[in-house]
Amino acid sequence: MLYRLNKAGYQAFLVGGCVRDALIGLHPKDFDVATDATPEDVRSLFSNCRLIGRRFRLAHVRFGREIIETATFRAAANHKDDDVAHDQQGRIIRDNVYGTIDEDVWRRDFTCNALYYNIDDFSIWDYTGGVLDVDRRRLVLIGDPDSRLREDPVRMLRAVRFAAKLNFTIDKSVVDAMHKNVGLLTNVPAARLFDEFLKLFQGGHAERTFELLWEHGLFDEMFPATAQELQQDQKYAEFVRAALQSTDRRVRADKSVTPMFLIGVFFWAPVQRMAAHKRSEEKMSESQSLSLASYDIAAEQQKRISIPRRFTGPMREMLALQPRFELMTGRRAMNLLEHRRFRAAYDFMELLSEVGLVDKEIAKFWTDVQTQSADQRAETFQVHAKPAGRSRRRRKRRSSSSSGAGA
Ligand code: ATP
Ligand code: MG
Repeated sequence: MLYRLNKAGYQAFLVGGCVRDALIGLHPKDFDVATDATPEDVRSLFSNCRLIGRRFRLAHVRFGREIIETATFRAAANHKDDDVAHDQQGRIIRDNVYGTIDEDVWRRDFTCNALYYNIDDFSIWDYTGGVLDVDRRRLVLIGDPDSRLREDPVRMLRAVRFAAKLNFTIDKSVVDAMHKNVGLLTNVPAARLFDEFLKLFQGGHAERTFELLWEHGLFDEMFPATAQELQQDQKYAEFVRAALQSTDRRVRADKSVTPMFLIGVFFWAPVQRMAAHKRSEEKMSESQSLSLASYDIAAEQQKRISIPRRFTGPMREMLALQPRFELMTGRRAMNLLEHRRFRAAYDFMELLSEVGLVDKEIAKFWTDVQTQSADQRAETFQVHAKPAGRSRRRRKRRSSSSSGAGA
């Protein structure tokens, strides 16, 4: 890829996370390329290329399963008619003025992310002292920290993410600017925050990330309702921590993770509180109240972080199933095993029991029953042979409907 760009007469460097990670001996997660070719130039060179992004136009070049993100050098734009737009708080909403490498470097976020690797002679081009900061394991923003965070408040979350992943310290100048600007996170489009949420919590360092977000007041901006519950409920805080640890274990073991699980965990305490309130106002089942409350809490949360419906739907089901684990006899109880959200709901319940929020006996029952044969299960749930049960029910229904017709 780099060679092909070079051969066509363009400059091309590896940049960002892959250079940084290689320097500290980590296996790079993906590769970013910086070039003086425009996105359109890149597309005409590579058939396997797609252009993406409006705020920031990029070329995605696909090689097998790998996607190489290719960014054209950007210039810091000062002219009025440039294609860079700011909002009232100074946030950049469009950034598409192309430039040269020695202009590009200054608009990158942290010094450790502004290292360019030149494959021609295997040299690293370091304009900002990034190599030294990698050595000292610290995150330093390029330029004035305060205005860099105002330009793009997501950089606060990036600081935390890199600190957690790389075990770097966030430089005091950055911490001070963060504390001044946490409130600006609410200006960031909710869809972008969801993308960032995934990177924060599904990178294998969710627990440390959470600690840092909390420490710097960022979690509170992202999940205000959750933060409020965490402050007053020690058990719930333990539950959240257990969920973060379990997510990290799964990611590190290369098992699949779905964001709906952790979002369900973050919603659990606020949802329970609201569900109790709903039940006090109107007669309804616990499941029903949990489902309705999940809906309301999700709607409130969408104002900050937009969670796609394909996740909120399953999450509501997972939360609403929780009371059903208490029921351990009868066909309805046994049918829970066949529910499409059983697995997620079971994992959720199991985690609650780990911190003492669900009876250990209940968790054990549902763990054991999963390995039983159909016959054993029927016995465990005290379910009688099917035909008898069915005909009895049918007879009952018929009689009740006929009495209904007569009334
Ligand atoms: P990761 O290991 O997560 O891929 P990364 O440093 O490569 O980390 P990317 O989001 O892939 O992060 O971005 C690639 C590079 O683009 C960064 O290293 C940085 O130089 C630059 N960059 C990305 N996002 C921003 C931003 N919001 N502000 C300034 N520069 C950014
Ligand atoms: Mg990257």
